[in-house]
Parts: sequence; structure tokens; C-alpha cells
Amino acid sequence: MNVEQVFPMMGGDGENSYAKNSRVPEKAVIMTKPLMEEAVREICKSLPEKLVAADLGCSSGPNTLLVLSQITNAVDEHCCSLSQQKPEIQFFLNDLPSNDFNNMFQLSVQHQKKIREEKGDEYVPFYVVGSPGSFYGRLFPSKSVHLFYSSYRLMWLSKVPRGLKEEGSDLLNRPDIYIDKNSSIVYHLYLKQFKTDFLDFLKSRSKELIYGGSMILSILGRRDCQASGELLHLWGLLAEALNTMVSEGLVEEDKLKDFNLPFYAPLMEEVRSIINMEGSFDLTQVQTFESNWDPFDDSSENFVEDKKSSGRNVANYIRAVVGPLVTSYFGTDILEDLFSRYANNIARHMHGPKPKYTVLILVLKLKGGEHAICGCK
Ligand code: SAH
Repeated sequence: MNVEQVFPMMGGDGENSYAKNSRVPEKAVIMTKPLMEEAVREICKSLPEKLVAADLGCSSGPNTLLVLSQITNAVDEHCCSLSQQKPEIQFFLNDLPSNDFNNMFQLSVQHQKKIREEKGDEYVPFYVVGSPGSFYGRLFPSKSVHLFYSSYRLMWLSKVPRGLKEEGSDLLNRPDIYIDKNSSIVYHLYLKQFKTDFLDFLKSRSKELIYGGSMILSILGRRDCQASGELLHLWGLLAEALNTMVSEGLVEEDKLKDFNLPFYAPLMEEVRSIINMEGSFDLTQVQTFESNWDPFDDSSENFVEDKKSSGRNVANYIRAVVGPLVTSYFGTDILEDLFSRYANNIARHMHGPKPKYTVLILVLKLKGGEHAICGCK
């Protein structure tokens, strides 16, 4: 199964679309704003005529426009404060070719019109370009991009780890669809695939990034322990709904046996060690933050008031993310039933302390580029 073909989020702007369910990653975009501003200030120091930025795995929701606004605003503020000529901005929207780019292009034209009206003479010209392709390979010419941004993508693997299905035996991680907390073999298979993918990603970006530029990444991760954490529950509750549907004859057992999530939430130390292993980048800043499972819950209380509606919100978000993947294994007929059971399972889980995602934020710069004029070294 080619994961990339079934990966893109639910397109369009309907109830279950990613465009309507992208509030979880929005929080990471907001958290990274100061890092983005700092990166833009660094880039502007070399007085570039144009600033080239790319959002890798931009999807078809509004978050990428928030990233674009942060860049244009940072350029505007920095250049105005120093009475410096503002660079023009070229902004690449990267995602897999099957992503709903049309929705993104329409949103970006509306965004441009709005900003032009709001800013008048202060308008920083920006040009939005689609860049379809997998970021595990090369996407841009050598030394051509000042700023890479990628949010909520790198924990998704390019493929389900090899070896999960041993010849002649049952799947190693049954009845789970992700890491089984009792199996260190499964954990190591997932980690190995994450390492391969992240190395490929870093290798390509190291060729494309301009010295003095930055790469800002946010990734769902884990705080500690080999395989523990809330994400085991997030996927465990989906596995539970699928297994119940098997026992009721609504899902074929053989299909479920083949279903594993291509997902790995790394520890910060694992990410750090892969960056060191690849060798091109310095990890200049790291942060972690906790984000509530429910995208609409912004409170800091450690309990969930309306568990039913919170369960539904989480299930809707996860449906927008994994809907196409689930459909490719089980068809569309099970979606309503599956995600309504999933919502109930999540609501039940919310009787405990409020479940949260751990988000890792990283800023990387090319080694040896500290004093470089953009583009050459
Ligand atoms: N950055 C978005 C969320 C992205 S969800 C936000 O903040 O809202 C992950 C996105 O990565 C999906 O749109 C998916 O299609 C895309 N994607 C998956 N594999 C990819 C790959 N190999 N190369 C580029 N994009 C990929």
C-alpha cells in the first residue's frame, strides 16, 4: 500500500474536511510565531531582494495562510523599524500531488485580496506557488529557500514499518493498530522507519536551504518512556472501535489485521540523535508544549466538562486526518459508525485527567552558516 496516495487530508470545505477541522495544528502555528519572527529578522539582515519560504505538508486548510501572514508581518515590522527596503516574498505550498491544492489556491487569492485592502501602501508583495511532491525527496533547486516550515506532518511515516507482519504468524501488534506497549520489537520497527524518513527529509532540505536561513518544525512527540503516552490511548481507542465492529461482523477481521498506522511520535532525544547522525544541521532551539486533544478546548483546567461534545470534536479532527487512510482499507460505508463509536470511546477516556498531545518544536540551521551572506558560503 502506497501511504502517500491515501495520505492527503479530507479536501473541500465540508463538515468533515480538513479545512474545517484544522484547529489542533493551528495552535502550533501560534506557538511558533516568535521563532518565525526571529528567523525572518536573521534572513532580512542580509538584505535579500526576495525571501523564499516553503510550508511543507501545507494541507488544504487555513493554517498555511497563518504561516504566510506571520512571515509577511515579520518582514513588514523588521524592515519598517530599520527603514530597510522590504523583500518580495515567494511562498511555496508543498504537499502531495493529490492534496486539494485548488482549495488552497482559492483561499490564498482571497487572502491576498484581503491583505492588499487592509495594508494599502504597507502591503508586502507576496507570490504563492504550488509545489506538489513528496518532501522525502528533493523539491527545490540547491540553495534556493530561506525558510522552511513544517507543522504536524513529520510524525506520519512514509510507509507502515516493514516486518510488522511476520511470515506465517499473526501480526505482532494485534489487536492494536499502532505501537503495542508490550512489544519492544514493534516499537523498534516504528523507530527505524521514523529514522529512515527523517534522515531523507533532512538530507534533501540540507541541499535546498540557503546558509543563514532556518527550518522550523513542529512534530507530535512523546515526553518520556519507550512507548507510553497519550497517543497510545488516542489510537488504542480507535483500535477498540474497529475491534468491536469486527466482533459485530461489521468489519472484516482480515482487513483489520492488515491495518497499521504509519505514525510515530518521537522523543526529543530521538529527534536530536537523528539530526546529529545526518550531520548538516545545528539544532538551535527546542521547545515542547502540551495541547488539549479537543481542538476547541482552550481552558487550562485539568478536567473535561462536556465529555460527549469533546469526544465528538476529537473524533472529527482525527476523521479529517485519517479518513482517507481508513477508507482505503475499509471503504466509506463504515466511516459514520466507526467515528461515532470512536467519539464515545474518547468521551469515556475523558473521565480521567484531560488528555493532551505533546508537541515538539525545533529550529534548525545549516552548520557553518552563521556569518554567511544568503545563498553562498
Ligand atoms: N501543516 C498542516 C497540517 C498538515 S497534515 C497544518 O498545520 O494544518 C499533513 C499534511 O502532509 C497532509 O496534507 C499530507 O497530504 C501531507 N503529506 C503527507 N506526506 C507528505 C509528503 N511525503 N510530502 C509532502 N506532504 C506530505
